[in-house]
Amino acid sequence: MTEPKKLFVKTYGCQMNVYDSQRMQDVLAPLGYQPVDSAEGADMVILNTCHIREKAAEKVFSDLGRVRKHKEAKEANGGDKMIVAVAGCVAQAEGAELMKREPMVDMVFGPQTYHRLPEMVARANRAVGRNRIVDTDFPAEEKFDHLPEHVSKQGYSAFLAIQEGCDKFCTFCVVPYTRGAEYSRPGADVIREAKQLVAHGTRELTLLGQNVNAYHGEAPNGGEWTLGRLLREMAEIDGLDRIRYTTSHPRDVDEDLISAHRDLKKLMPFLHLPVQAGGDRVLQAMNRKHTNADYRDIAARLKDACPDLALSSDFIVGFPGESDKDFEDTMEIVRDITFIQAFSFKYSPRPGTPASAMELQVPEKVKTERIMRLQALLAEQQLVFNQNSVGKEMDVLLERRGKYEGQLVGKSPYMQPVHVSGLPESALGQIVRLKITEALPNSLGGELVDATRNDQKSERNVA
Ligand code: SAM
Ligand code: SF4
Repeated sequence: MTEPKKLFVKTYGCQMNVYDSQRMQDVLAPLGYQPVDSAEGADMVILNTCHIREKAAEKVFSDLGRVRKHKEAKEANGGDKMIVAVAGCVAQAEGAELMKREPMVDMVFGPQTYHRLPEMVARANRAVGRNRIVDTDFPAEEKFDHLPEHVSKQGYSAFLAIQEGCDKFCTFCVVPYTRGAEYSRPGADVIREAKQLVAHGTRELTLLGQNVNAYHGEAPNGGEWTLGRLLREMAEIDGLDRIRYTTSHPRDVDEDLISAHRDLKKLMPFLHLPVQAGGDRVLQAMNRKHTNADYRDIAARLKDACPDLALSSDFIVGFPGESDKDFEDTMEIVRDITFIQAFSFKYSPRPGTPASAMELQVPEKVKTERIMRLQALLAEQQLVFNQNSVGKEMDVLLERRGKYEGQLVGKSPYMQPVHVSGLPESALGQIVRLKITEALPNSLGGELVDATRNDQKSERNVA
């Protein structure tokens, strides 16, 4: 029997990259590649990269330095080859340039071409000469048509990509250039993949897309499904207990989606709905296609449909031209809406995007002052929400062992990590009812309410 080949994949950035890395492993498994935890001694190393902010892209180049050392050590004295590949959005954006800058890289491929990995690996492994490969073609349809029909086993909580690319062209964002035009997978394919994951033991699915609520996939009997409709179909899958989706654009929240939040118990009451900024001038310059008032209205309609719904958001501070007043509008919308989690970033000019060429770039010092104020407010809101959870009962999906002996960690309906002690490891994968006894800034502690009431499926509300 031939030895399995060692595959090390490092993932940077968003959940879509996590999904893509998993699928790359599925594509390479028939060739004998098995995932390992370190680049040391690996037969193939893939860095699945992110280009969204300058820092994310820079990290890849410093990591490549470390990989080079492992490659040199493995190949020293006629040792076996290590194939080094750069995948994802840095690969898409910098392709040939990256090959020039990093001579030891064998392969560069974008987010839409990894279904062709077997071909690329065969070419890279050819005995004669050195074949360096760049494959950064576009259409997403082709990739999904050629990926293996079977997905491998994932965790109790797993990702499922249903949509890819983006046509919104926010002026700060590289996604439309690195991921291409918006594409929705056919509904039947999504349901098939969801059922496979559930058959492997997954109980919670997060549907992914760069703009997931722009979803308009082909319906099995003709016509199209919206995201709201797809969610209803997903909720029918036996054994699937929790459904989430991310990332949504406020502009694409429609009545179908709002009513799904009203009707579907399996749809968790937590939604990542990035507002980015509060000032209308900034929102317009960002080409967000919604105003401050639009966002407030959408949030109110969602909370009306699902009163226990909580929101999280992304924020960019220091977008070109952002005045003190614009920034105060951001602070005000945060105070008014309240977000229970958030990601906030200083604006990072990205080559080729319209905003990078805008005048009135905000000085670094001002960006720093603003982000510190915003993050303090967001952290306070998160802590208050966590503290208000104490004394309540919540259904928690237990996903992994904790740091301490006898501790398990799961997720609340609101994505809060919850620690619990004294349960056997066989409880992993179960949804248990916990009483929350402790709140920390980023997590909760709980204790079992009543063993006989455990694992009541889809009981999502917090008592
Ligand atoms: N599609 C999502 C949306 O419409 O909000 C998010 C896409 S992006 C992968 C995730 C987040 O990165 C964005 O929501 C934004 O806050 C941030 N981001 C994107 N480009 C950025 C830039 N040039 N500078 C700083 N933050 C950026
Ligand atoms: Fe980027 Fe999201 Fe805007 Fe699309 S909607 S351009 S992914 S920030």
